[in-house]
Parts: sequence; C-alpha cells; structure tokens
Amino acid sequence: MTLPFLGPLLHEGKAKRVYATDHPDRVAVEFKDDATAFNAQKRASLAGKGEMNCRISALVFERLAARGVPTHYLGVEGPNWMVVRAVRIVPVEVVVRNIAAGSLCRQLPIEVGTRLDPPLLDLYYKDDALGDPLLTEARLERLGLLTSPQRQRLGELAFAINAELCALFAEADLELVDFKVELGFTGVGELVLADEISPDTCRLWDRRVSDASDRILDKDRFRQDLGGVVEAYGEVLKRVQGVCPEPRVYR
Ligand code: UDP
Repeated sequence: MTLPFLGPLLHEGKAKRVYATDHPDRVAVEFKDDATAFNAQKRASLAGKGEMNCRISALVFERLAARGVPTHYLGVEGPNWMVVRAVRIVPVEVVVRNIAAGSLCRQLPIEVGTRLDPPLLDLYYKDDALGDPLLTEARLERLGLLTSPQRQRLGELAFAINAELCALFAEADLELVDFKVELGFTGVGELVLADEISPDTCRLWDRRVSDASDRILDKDRFRQDLGGVVEAYGEVLKRVQGVCPEPRVYR
C-alpha cells in the first residue's frame, strides 16, 4: 500500500521506514515485519508483526496523549502506517525498569524478577556500531547532547510515561517489566515521546500466568526462541484495545 501524500524515503531502521509527506512538519512511518535482536545479529520476518506493533503503538499513544503526555503521534493511516510530527530524535535510548530483567541481570548481581522501587532509569547512547553503550551522567554531559534543563525534562518525561504505562498495562492484566523509549525535539523545541511503544520495546509479563516462560508476551519470545511471537503480540493488542481509545485516522 502507498499513501497519496507520501514523499521520499528519509530513513530506514530495523523495524520501520520513515517517509516525507506533503506537509513539511509531518512524516509517515511504515512498520515492517522484520524482527532483529542482539544488535541485529539475529533476524527474521514475522508476518503481521508490523501491523500489530503499529496498532499497539497507536492505542498506547492515544491513551498517553489523553493523559497529557506530549507525543509525536498524529494518527494511523492503513494497517501499518502512522503519521507523526517530524522531530529531531535525541540519540539516547531511555530505558525504565520496574522489575529486573535482561541486560541489568547480565551486568549486575540482581536476580530476574526483583522489583525495583523506585524504578531505575538507564540511558544508553544510541549507536549500533558502538553497541549502544550505557551512559553515565558525566558521559552524557561530555557528549553535549542535552542541556541540564533538557536532561531534567527527559527524566520527568520518562517517569511520567512509566507511571501511565504501568497503569495502562495493569488494567490489561500485564506487568510492565521494563521498556525503552526515544524522545525527540519538535520544531519549536518541545521534548516529546517518539518512535514506538510495543512488545518490541517493552517487556510484558502476563499476570494471569505464573510460568516464567509462558508469561512472556514480548520480544523475549523471539530473543529466547520460545515461539508464538506473533500470537503473543496479538494477545497484547487484544488486551490493550480494551483499555485505550480507538486510534484516530490521520485524514
Ligand atoms: N530495548 C529496546 N531496544 C534496544 C534495547 C532494549 O527496545 O535496542 C528494550 C527491551 O526490549 C527491554 C528494555 O529496552 O524492554 C531493556 O532492555 P535491556 O537493557 O534489558 O536489554 P536486552 O536484554 O534487551 O539486551
């Protein structure tokens, strides 16, 4: 499917393509079926994943916007297209952790499943060639990516997003273990939530299931070869649909 207002391809990432539109401040994002893990060393194509991530992200953005979180989201257009405000992405992966899992447990003596209260905010420099290294405050300052008030705003936004997402997913009987978001500056310098929020970027455990593998409803199913990836994403979509406003159609 192509959209009538589509301009040239601006950027192709691992899971999405970004196109110009006929509006200089707006871009169209196509969600792909491609799945990658371990810095793209593991790859697959999962039919239907792009569509589900687009729909889940749109539902989540609708709810966050309704709760006052500034986002780049403008609406959906067809099953796997989203139109968003053009932003300058901050090259920092913003990770919030409510329960210990993943790299945290590989790097520190913290057991998987340990509740983190208060939640932990980890910032990584977004650079595949460097393997997205963990940032310290001093390194962040040295890179000069953010002013001190912008750094403070990033933290406030990350925790506000976490609070809203925890409530949203809890209503859907899902445990938000951790997630990664990307933030960007709009043309007028406002810091907003960008990119996507989906089972590709969140760890979600099914509160209705106690088995440690069976409860996983996110990209860890792909990372750990657990199978049923698209089915798990479908379950997340179904539950999120029950607790979020219907995504608006862009036009
Ligand atoms: N994450 C992501 N993109 C990345 C790295 C991490 O979306 O490039 C997400 C990941 O899905 C998880 C959270 O960020 O929900 C924390 O990931 P972690 O640092 O534990 O790394 P991982 O175990 O995925 O290597």
